[in-house]
Amino acid sequence: MLFYAITGLINAIGSIFVGLFVYSQNRKNEINKVFALLCLSIVIWSLPYFLWQMSTKASTALFWSRALMIGAIFIPITFYHFILVFLDLMKRRKVVLIFGYLLAITFLILDFTPLFVRDVSTALNFPYWPKAGKFYAPFLLMFFVYTVLGCFLLLKAHKKSEGIKKIQIKYLLAAAIFGFVGGATNYPLWYNISILPIGNALVILYPLLTAYAIIKHRLFNIRVIITELLVGVIAVTLLVQFFTAPTLTLKIASFVLLVLFIIVGSLLIQSVLREIEYREKLRVKNIELEEAKKHIERAYAIERQGHEELKRLEEARKQFILATQHHLRTPLTIMKGYVSMILEGSYGKVDPKTKKPLDYFQESTEKLIKLVNELLDISQFQMGRGILDLKDVQMEDVLQEIVNELKPEADKKGLYLILEKPQTSLTKIKADASRMKLALANVVDNGVKYTQKGGVAVKIFEDKEHIHLTVSDTGIGMEKEETEFLFGRFFERGDTAKKAHTTGRGIGLALSDQIIRAHKGRIWVESEGKDKGSTFHIEIPKSQTNNDQSKQIR
Ligand code: ADP
Repeated sequence: MLFYAITGLINAIGSIFVGLFVYSQNRKNEINKVFALLCLSIVIWSLPYFLWQMSTKASTALFWSRALMIGAIFIPITFYHFILVFLDLMKRRKVVLIFGYLLAITFLILDFTPLFVRDVSTALNFPYWPKAGKFYAPFLLMFFVYTVLGCFLLLKAHKKSEGIKKIQIKYLLAAAIFGFVGGATNYPLWYNISILPIGNALVILYPLLTAYAIIKHRLFNIRVIITELLVGVIAVTLLVQFFTAPTLTLKIASFVLLVLFIIVGSLLIQSVLREIEYREKLRVKNIELEEAKKHIERAYAIERQGHEELKRLEEARKQFILATQHHLRTPLTIMKGYVSMILEGSYGKVDPKTKKPLDYFQESTEKLIKLVNELLDISQFQMGRGILDLKDVQMEDVLQEIVNELKPEADKKGLYLILEKPQTSLTKIKADASRMKLALANVVDNGVKYTQKGGVAVKIFEDKEHIHLTVSDTGIGMEKEETEFLFGRFFERGDTAKKAHTTGRGIGLALSDQIIRAHKGRIWVESEGKDKGSTFHIEIPKSQTNNDQSKQIR
């Protein structure tokens, strides 16, 4: 019966290719290994099946039908083994598996005796169909039990699993049903029940679907299997043609054809494999890209959250500073008041011995109040709560006052302190005079403070839009890096300055910067480096967009 012979051959070739393919995909993976073993069992069953169907003598048919049983005995147990590995159940079901293998070996021993396959005789259209011996029924029982057990485990796992695994299990179940129901159509005739073994043609679906499921449910891999299968089938047909060719010329021709086909076929398989590799790489790249995108999005979200948090903390910090300063100022003012009253004699005549320390006390308290006020000013400007009292101000007058006040200090150090101003008066600008004076005085005072030789030159001039001021000294100078952060943060001091003036607080310039900014102006510093002097530049716009007499800076 040629049709059944061909189904056997297809099952054999298909299983060889699928088994080898899956095995070659990952030789170390237990799943792939056990699957290759299962395919081997199917090959050992289906190849003799083909040869048995082709047999023309009862003795050869008997031999091949016994031979095919070797595979048949091992199919259910290797199937069960495969399911255990696939579902990671090996540890729990090991005993059942070992028992199955022992049972299979027992049947194997009995296989070539009449106890297993008694004889061959005609059945339906088949000239030589095997007849069951006494031990054939127990084999069928084992076949049934292990197949059902395997399917049962799959069903149970299907309910629990999700995603790819669930799909894989579905394929495995479908494969098992096609394979075993198809294969089982061979059994009735053993007991003279007249059912044709038509399901044998379905068995090939078993390794195909299983392989598909194993190779992670990726459609394009099935193309390799199909290509290999096709090439294999054609190659076998050509081989048969070569053996059956009646003349030498035809034999040579079919041989050449076979060789050519094998070359072309392997090239075809290679190209399919290459394409798959390429697609796989692409797929992996895409997945990586997606992952990276997700990471970036997550990072952005975290950053945004961090930013918000930072803003909140900054606000809280400023509030805290403001509150602290207020609380400091009140007792300090009270202290100052009492000391003044004591010194004025409100509490009785002051002993001349006590007067001096009391003077120091008063001086220190005043310095402390000044410091707290400066801090309070900075914080308020930083928070946008600083209120400017804007009036028309003649800037060169403010500078002249500063220079006059600091002159004695410069003289004491033997420094020059000069103010260069234009002959004609400068344009008046809207400014908070006292605050502006404080801002500029800080800068000029620093010039005197950080200069030991030479002196400080203050210059004022205007252009169309701005009043410009420069304060150049011949003092300690500073490195480039220092120039960048002097105004930004509180308590930032240059290294040389720390040595020159240990008592500096690093507040003055921060406050000057805040005040000048509040007037919409800019302050920056230039220096050639250490000991090369510094020049502070200040630029204030002559007209500000908002000309309120008193305005809140935002
Ligand atoms: P303080 O002078 O109390 O330290 P400032 O805010 O006025 O605080 O100045 C901050 C720092 O800027 C100083 O410690 C010093 O390092 C540097 N600096 C300011 N003015 C000069 C200057 N004219 N020459 C060199 N360094 C200066």
